[in-house]
Amino acid sequence: MSQAPAVSYADFYRQSIDQPDAFWAEQAKLIDWFKPFDRVCNYDNPPFARWFEGGKTNLCFNAVDRHLKDRASQPALIAVSTETLTEKTYTFSELHAEVMRMAASLKSLGVQKGDRVLIYMPMIAEAAFAMLACARLGAIHCVVFGGFASGSLASRIEDASPKVIVSADAGSRGGKAIAYKPLLDEAIRLSAHKPDAVLLADRGLAPMALVAGRDHLWADLRQQHLAAQVPCEAMDSTDISYTIYTSGTTGKPKGVQRDTAGYTVALAASMKHIFDGRPGETFFSTSDIGWVVGHSYIVYGPLIAGMATIMYEGLPTQGMDGQPDGGIWWRLVEKYQVTGMFSAPTAVRVLKKQDPALLKKYDLSSLRALFLAGEPLDEPTARWISEGLNVPIIDNYWQTETGWPLLTVANGVEATRSKFGSPGVPMYGYRVKLLHENTGEELTQPNEKGVVVVEGPTPPGFMQTIWKDDARFVNTYWKSVPGKLVYSTFDWGIRDEDGYYFILGRTDDVINVAGHRLGTREIEESISGHPQVAEVAVVGVADNLKGQVAMAFAVLKDPAQAQDEVQAKKLEAEIMKRVDGDLGAVARPARVRFVTVLPKTRSGKLLRRAIQAVCEGRDAGDLTTMDDPAALEQIRDRMAS
Ligand code: ATP
Ligand code: MG
Repeated sequence: MSQAPAVSYADFYRQSIDQPDAFWAEQAKLIDWFKPFDRVCNYDNPPFARWFEGGKTNLCFNAVDRHLKDRASQPALIAVSTETLTEKTYTFSELHAEVMRMAASLKSLGVQKGDRVLIYMPMIAEAAFAMLACARLGAIHCVVFGGFASGSLASRIEDASPKVIVSADAGSRGGKAIAYKPLLDEAIRLSAHKPDAVLLADRGLAPMALVAGRDHLWADLRQQHLAAQVPCEAMDSTDISYTIYTSGTTGKPKGVQRDTAGYTVALAASMKHIFDGRPGETFFSTSDIGWVVGHSYIVYGPLIAGMATIMYEGLPTQGMDGQPDGGIWWRLVEKYQVTGMFSAPTAVRVLKKQDPALLKKYDLSSLRALFLAGEPLDEPTARWISEGLNVPIIDNYWQTETGWPLLTVANGVEATRSKFGSPGVPMYGYRVKLLHENTGEELTQPNEKGVVVVEGPTPPGFMQTIWKDDARFVNTYWKSVPGKLVYSTFDWGIRDEDGYYFILGRTDDVINVAGHRLGTREIEESISGHPQVAEVAVVGVADNLKGQVAMAFAVLKDPAQAQDEVQAKKLEAEIMKRVDGDLGAVARPARVRFVTVLPKTRSGKLLRRAIQAVCEGRDAGDLTTMDDPAALEQIRDRMAS
């Protein structure tokens, strides 16, 4: 066997930028094609990049069917629920059979290539069957986070206009069933578009009234199609695989649309080069299928790579016996010999409140790395988990729009150290630049702050457009810098002398204190270094004198510490002093208020936009993606006091 020559990541990256066609043609060999492509990248109509034109392939074929030859009896999908206390492993061959049953059921309800299927489901195996079945048939899936209320769901039903909706009787959170069916019925009532049919998994968690002629039970249809053989549709490379809405942190969610071949190639490449996942191993991503991480790294990515994937329903602190267990995830790592794990800083902060001994209780020797994304990873959190697990903690920065990491380190190409506080360097295929916020000029010197942008053509896997709205796609993302056609991430960042990027916050979150530009993230990073602070949000609030001042809301590790007013004042002073020392007095928050919970989206992201609005006495705007309305009430109270 010939040994591939060792490449440096710098060379690998260079090739992806200087010879993109050769680079991506090579990556395209990682997947199976029904028909080879004629052209690697068509960028005749910027900013629309069309990848692998002329080729035909199928996402489901690459995730499931192609593994039947070598690993039919190996685990593919491991569904674990600490809500219903169930645990079931599907081999590739069993997964294949279930997906065909689901595909046949959807077909019997009229679903054809190009039709939309909206999936509103909890984290159960049937949700993965439904996604893969859509991909198999060439139907476009639109997964909506389970548990969104009727209003959010209705607007997405209208936008996606699905022929069929796949759902379930209920989800469950903290042992309490949340009935989905009434929410869905209400959403369909509110929506101008009505689906032809609804397919329902009945978990026996909540009673369900079925609408005659419209509603069907998965158990019944599955039974009718037990032996179904449904071939994979040969999809054009640029055919749509799915749409998904962004988290809605900054405003009305955008319907991100993705292709077929580019996405499949991008995931196969990222599993190899970034996540270093190998066939036959197990990957565990703790996200939800309602988010892009769930699409890319619970369902498609690991399966494309021939890995088993764990689908986990439940809190990070609840055990298989229904009792509290802050070590449940580590128990699963041991049991299933997980090699790669993917979570979010917000989840690690929850675990940080648990007994650190739990990290030492299990044999975690199979684990090679923990990947974290979705929000800035502050250094104290990174250090805590890194020392506890004793594996590299790999921050990765991306967006629903990008589909896979844009900034991180590619350990599958060259072993690279992460720097605390930085997600890393630009990933292959991404032409990342920093631009001056006002002039749009490129910043070339180290440590200058600017907006993180991407020059086209964007790499495979990147969004094609906004669903049904090319104009909104171009205007929203590509027109923010006058005179230049560049994709704006709307994140504010800095690059150090080694080429590592640091994300300082969203461009909306940059505050201007007496003429100084500060990212709220910088201030948060400083405050979270205080030993008592578990979590913090900083927002800019309008101020007559200074333009804006920073306002901090902190959650303490021991909330009782802030109950006594004298103690709270003392802590506030300590925190201010810390910021003075780290960033200078100009960054010092005007006030530090203590709360027990911060307002977040259902995906765990801080809703700074809403906090800021409340601080300025404005309407908090669209809160349909917010997790816990009481959190905003606390901010309101603390502002008034
Ligand atoms: P919307 O676009 O609807 O306002 P959103 O931006 O929160 O919602 P996502 O696509 O889920 O929706 O989140 C992407 C954003 O999350 C990034 O633009 C960035 O602000 C933040 N982010 C993701 N990963 C990281 C990371 N590793 N470090 C810092 N920030 C991150
Ligand atoms: Mg966004």
